[in-house]
Amino acid sequence: MSDSLSSPLLTADEPPPFTVLNGESNRPVLFLCDHASNAIPKSLGNLGLGPADLAAHIAWDIGAAALTRLLADRFEACAVLTNYSRLVVDCNRPPGEPTAIPPVSDGIPVPGNQDLSEAEAVRRTEELFWPYHREVTERLAHLWRQGKPPVVICIHSCAPSMDGFNRPWHIGLMYDHDDRVTKGMLGALARLRPDAVLGENQPYSGKDIGFTINTHAEPAGLPNLGVEFRQDLVGTPEGVADLGGLFGDALEEVLSVEALYTCLMT
Ligand SMILES: [Zn+2]
Repeated sequence: MSDSLSSPLLTADEPPPFTVLNGESNRPVLFLCDHASNAIPKSLGNLGLGPADLAAHIAWDIGAAALTRLLADRFEACAVLTNYSRLVVDCNRPPGEPTAIPPVSDGIPVPGNQDLSEAEAVRRTEELFWPYHREVTERLAHLWRQGKPPVVICIHSCAPSMDGFNRPWHIGLMYDHDDRVTKGMLGALARLRPDAVLGENQPYSGKDIGFTINTHAEPAGLPNLGVEFRQDLVGTPEGVADLGGLFGDALEEVLSVEALYTCLMT
């Protein structure tokens, strides 16, 4: 293991740590997808997992990349998506936090994450985590320099059941201190589709541990939203088009309110 640490995690023929869409856009909205990919760098040998586990929710947010691309296209807005699995290093966890590089995920042991040396944890963080977050920082700075505080939207998806509990929510909307976008979206979504089951800080709470919004949006007072789409509803192109279309319709209303583009210091 110690020999491999001196070599880079990614080889020259592998994708970079992140992908940027519509980088030329000046629209004050940034879509982020922390868990877009289930790819594992070749040097890590699939972390010892088989194809079924790598295709499952523990490795990525199923449907989230497609939703992010749909929304970035529709709003002609910039998006940044990770290109490697959350199992390598989770870009929505503070480095060092026990689940940042999970030895076990949803009950499934991850062989390549057992007894990890600090040097290996640092290597993954340096090569995948920080490049993504540096890019997010630069993209937000670019948009903010155009004049308006940009809105940060983090696109996630969640498993339909967890720990024996079937999650009823089709779309969960999450906030910590700044609930401006969440409240607007809850109202618009309920009006546009009255039978949609919406979660407010469900199935996860924006007040729980997270890195992306807590680092890039909340301290600066930027309007923000974390959204969780239920994976069984967005696992097909039809599902992505349906819920992504609905979400986009609601977001269009919320983003049209000029008063949103202010910093809220909480
Ligand atoms: Zn996620």
